[in-house]
Amino acid sequence: MKASVLFEPGQPLEVEDLDIEGPRDDEVVVRMVASGVCHSCLHTADGSWKGFPMPIVLGDEGAGVVEDIGTGVRDVKVGDPVILSWAPSCGRCHYCVTGRSQLCERGAPSNGTLMDGSTRMSLKGKPVYHYGHVASYGSYSVMPSSCAIPIRKDMPLEVAALIGCSVMTGVGAAINTAAVPPGASMAVFGSGGIGLNVIQGGGLVEAHPIIAVDVNQSKLDYAMSMGASHTIDASKDDPVEAIKDITGRGADYSFVAVGEAGVINQAWNCLAPAGLCLLIGLPASGSTVTFDTWDLQAGERMIKGCKYGSARTWEDFPRMVELYMAGKLKIDELITHRYDLEDANEAFRALAAGEVARGLIVF
Ligand SMILES: [Zn+2]
Ligand SMILES: [Zn+2]
Repeated sequence: MKASVLFEPGQPLEVEDLDIEGPRDDEVVVRMVASGVCHSCLHTADGSWKGFPMPIVLGDEGAGVVEDIGTGVRDVKVGDPVILSWAPSCGRCHYCVTGRSQLCERGAPSNGTLMDGSTRMSLKGKPVYHYGHVASYGSYSVMPSSCAIPIRKDMPLEVAALIGCSVMTGVGAAINTAAVPPGASMAVFGSGGIGLNVIQGGGLVEAHPIIAVDVNQSKLDYAMSMGASHTIDASKDDPVEAIKDITGRGADYSFVAVGEAGVINQAWNCLAPAGLCLLIGLPASGSTVTFDTWDLQAGERMIKGCKYGSARTWEDFPRMVELYMAGKLKIDELITHRYDLEDANEAFRALAAGEVARGLIVF
């Protein structure tokens, strides 16, 4: 199989021919059709997120077709079109049975191996690790069967790939984690792949106003096309003041969809009393923020983490597909650049430069 491999943080990815093992118990093999280029992979490749074993096949956002299944696999079969989830779920633990499978207690930590602690890929006999269980920068990938969610056959798989991370995380942040009601105000910091989907999630539930904040004018233009009612260029204006001007009392909901600790303070400071600040983007490993406890206590403000848009993947991926097929969810518009596997480094460069809404590697 061909894959784009990261050997060392800060170094370019290299396309390699890897050996791949067959599926073990409760695993499936997926032939990749497309993979989104996600900021979390860029964080890993540039070294700002630490602790990943190398060499590793990156990619946490993909879709493809099931090529083979291991013993004990019941819910997906060969030939099924699937969207990949980077969060395995057991279906039996406290969090799975209470509808929060994104927090599954048996979902292995992202240490680069599958559930049994080993890898299915190797190069010259040495293990090659799996990013986020799904390693979608490879032409084939072995993963836990809970990570391959079957979808209807008429859904275009290139488009479906984005549901596996950015669409689910962003839309889910608005409609699942925050459960924004109609007419509530939203401020969304960062108009990249996640932030644009928070904006369209706000549109789905008729939030208003939906205020996009970024430092890049072309991203703010994307934000308007995805349903933002207002934009703030934070390189020119103070976003906290501007959000208070637009909303009067501050934002009912603020979303941090960018990995910068300083932005968390802005998203906190722009909140109305009883407002909720949702942290989606993750700053560099070890980052801390401080805030005034008075604002939290006296204003009954809340700050909360958001993992994967609180996705119940087996329920929410097909739900996102239905919304797309009904014309209520925009995904084609998010895909501004398409790449071959060989161009993954160029995809990272364009992502870091803020040139893309979403880049897509097509196999
Ligand atoms: Zn991702
Ligand atoms: Zn579980």
